[in-house]
Amino acid sequence: MLISRYRKEFCRPPNPEAEHLRCVAYLDTDISEVLPYLNRTLGGHQYFTDPPSLTLKLPGKLVTLYGKAIAINIVKDEAEAEDVLEWLKEKVNETWNRREEIEPILRVAPKPRLLDILRLLPKTNCGKCGDPTCMVFALRSSENAGRLEDCPHLDESGKGRIREYLEQFHWGTEH
Ligand code: SF4
Repeated sequence: MLISRYRKEFCRPPNPEAEHLRCVAYLDTDISEVLPYLNRTLGGHQYFTDPPSLTLKLPGKLVTLYGKAIAINIVKDEAEAEDVLEWLKEKVNETWNRREEIEPILRVAPKPRLLDILRLLPKTNCGKCGDPTCMVFALRSSENAGRLEDCPHLDESGKGRIREYLEQFHWGTEH
């Protein structure tokens, strides 16, 4: 096992009206070596080698893993931070244990291109999906393929083509 314990610290963001917290967890071990493997298994949003860091885009928040710390930019309370950290601890340890079968990625993993998704949408900007334009819908669908059900103008084969496109990226679906 790679991470066994961590110590959490919370702070308020500079904006006095913000209701959320920021959290940093200080780890009992250095996880730098697992970051390129996590970049593969979790689909990194940003990856840097010097110093090593990997940023993940989770629903509603960005999480950055450093060698000896994990920073979460938005949490509503300690319980939510604990949920995210325990999930990450499990993923870090599981990925580390399986590292010999995983090909590490030393760059940012490829992501869906919004224009490629837009091309597959009706492009009427009718707003019936709840988004103001098809481009916004493309952005939200790239993060959550379940959103495709919200466009009444997409038939099953249209949804299938977009799902097939998104599936090659394997990201944004684990948490
Ligand atoms: S309902 Fe479909 S066509 Fe209308 S704006 Fe949303 S994605 Fe575009």
